[in-house]
Amino acid sequence: MIDLHTHTTASDGRCTPAELVARAAAAGVTVLSVTDHDTVEACDAVGNACALAGITFVPGIEITAVRDEVDVHVLGYFVDVRSSSLGVFLAEQRQRRLDRVGRILVQLETLGIKLDSNAILRPAIDQPGASIGRPAVARAMVAAGYVKTSNDAFATWLSRGRPGFVAREGAAPDNVIEHIHAAGGVASMAHPGLLRRDMWIAGFASSGLDAIEAYHTNHDEQLTGHYRSVAHRLGLCISGGSDYHADESHGSAHPGSVSLPVEAFDQLRARATRPS
Ligand code: AMP
Ligand code: MN
Ligand code: MN
Ligand code: MN
Repeated sequence: MIDLHTHTTASDGRCTPAELVARAAAAGVTVLSVTDHDTVEACDAVGNACALAGITFVPGIEITAVRDEVDVHVLGYFVDVRSSSLGVFLAEQRQRRLDRVGRILVQLETLGIKLDSNAILRPAIDQPGASIGRPAVARAMVAAGYVKTSNDAFATWLSRGRPGFVAREGAAPDNVIEHIHAAGGVASMAHPGLLRRDMWIAGFASSGLDAIEAYHTNHDEQLTGHYRSVAHRLGLCISGGSDYHADESHGSAHPGSVSLPVEAFDQLRARATRPS
C-alpha cells in the first residue's frame, strides 16, 4: 500500500507523527508520505518512525495556493525539508494563516459566536512550525456547542459564502510550483475532483506541474479514471493517497485506504530524480 497524502498535529490532523506511523504500519502501508498544510515540521519525526517500522518514507507537503479567490492545494514530494528558501516561504504562508484565523474569530464574535481566541491561536504562536487553519475554529465551535460537527461549522459558518468566511491571501499556483522545484521536489495538484477546475490543469502543466492526484478518498473509480487519462494526455505523473486526518469530518479515510499503484509511484519518483 502506497499512501502519499496524510496529516498530523503539525497541521489539522489529529495524530502525532508516531501515532500516524503506527496506524500506517498496522494497516500494511509500505510507502508513506506526510503532507501537512504549509509545514514540513512533522517530516523528520515521521521519517524516523517509518525507518524503524520498515516503511519507505517520502518527505511531503500540501501548500495552499490561490487563484481567482479559489484555494488550489498543491502537493510537493521528495522536497528537501531543510531548504531555506522553502522554509522562508512556508513561514510566510503560516503567518497568513494565523492572521486569517484571527480575523475569522473577530468576525464570528460580531455574529455572536464567542470563542476563546487565545486558546485557539496560542499553539500556532508558541510553535511557529505548526500551521493553523479553519479546522481549529470548527473544532472550537463544536466544543463550545455552537455546532454538532466540524462539517456543520464549515457548511454554516466557515465556507465561502457563509457569514464567518474571510478571504485568504496566498501565493499563486505557479509560484508554489516554483518553490517546490527549487527545493528539489515534484509538484502534484491535490484532489482535482474536489477543486473542479479541470480547465486550469493544462496551464499548470505548462508552468511545470509534474502530477495530479488521481487517487483520493473523494474520487470514485470514474473520477480516478478521468484524472488518469487527463494526466496521460498532458504528460503528467499521478499521485494518490487517503488524505487521512484522523478526524470524522474526513469520512472513512485511514492510512492506506487509498493506495497509489506501484508503477505510478515509480514514475513519480523518477520524475523527482531526473536532472533538470
Ligand atoms: P484552511 O486550511 O483554513 O483553508 O481549511 C481547510 C481544511 O479544512 C482542509 O484541509 C480540510 O482538512 C478541512 N475542511 C475543508 N472543508 C471541510 C468541511 N466541509 N468540513 C470539515 N473540514 C473541512
Ligand atoms: Mn486538512
Ligand atoms: Mn487538500
Ligand atoms: Mn490534505
